[in-house]
Amino acid sequence: MERLHLVSREARARDTIVQVGKVKIGGGHKAYIAGPCSVEDETQIREIAQAIQDSAQILRGGAFKPRTSPYSFQGLGEAGLAYLKEAGRQVGLPVVTEVMSEAEVEMVADAVDMLQIGARNMQNYALLKKVGAQSKPVLLKRGVAATLEELLLSAEYILAAGNSQVVLCERGIRTFSQTFTRNTLDLSAVPILKQISHLPVIVDPSHGSGDWNLIEPLAKAAMAAGADGLMIEVHSRPDEALSDGPQSLKPEKYRSLIKKLNRLVAVLEEEKQ
Ligand code: PEP
Ligand code: MN
Repeated sequence: MERLHLVSREARARDTIVQVGKVKIGGGHKAYIAGPCSVEDETQIREIAQAIQDSAQILRGGAFKPRTSPYSFQGLGEAGLAYLKEAGRQVGLPVVTEVMSEAEVEMVADAVDMLQIGARNMQNYALLKKVGAQSKPVLLKRGVAATLEELLLSAEYILAAGNSQVVLCERGIRTFSQTFTRNTLDLSAVPILKQISHLPVIVDPSHGSGDWNLIEPLAKAAMAAGADGLMIEVHSRPDEALSDGPQSLKPEKYRSLIKKLNRLVAVLEEEKQ
């Protein structure tokens, strides 16, 4: 394995705690990130924010969307950022959104509390250096064909540029076994990454499965595997969503899932003692 000067446990034995607004992730702090795939309009993001405010720690919503087809909804851009920021402010939750290009890092960092690097950009090294050179925390998603070593080296880029506030995210990878799922969620990534690195690790069962029916079992499995949190897509009207409706939970389902996860996490904590 390539040398991991900064992200490895040899460099730092204790868990890194990443701070997003007032929210902590890692070192025993669990955080749930929830919200729609895309910010669609001001009312949509405000309604969802209000519906999840008591059962999420961070609000998500894409303003710049990396879509496989150029003809799919590309996000609202700057207007979406403003709606997300305002929705977060109204409910008192910090917000995270994806930044897709170097040119937009400053603008996005000014608007939100955490920058997301999407799976498609995990190896965009110029972008990694740029988010490493600013001070907002970074959520780094695993590329669909990236090894864990490659993910850790991408995180290393961000730390090497000066920003140690990085959360790793397993979001499913490409495999032969995708008849029933959009991706294959690699849960072995969680304990492996946590053994090698001090950085917090979260799991995104939404992109990891592509199917809202699979979110609950995968979310439970992720927490049992030791994840520091989850990112889950939530939409009030999944049938009408402009992106990723089929993998989005309705707010009521999301809230009941979080209640179950809180009980599960309490049991897991007891097991540790
Ligand atoms: C997302 O979280 O909205 C997203 C596009 O995820 P990924 O980069 O993992 O596909
Ligand atoms: Mn999505």
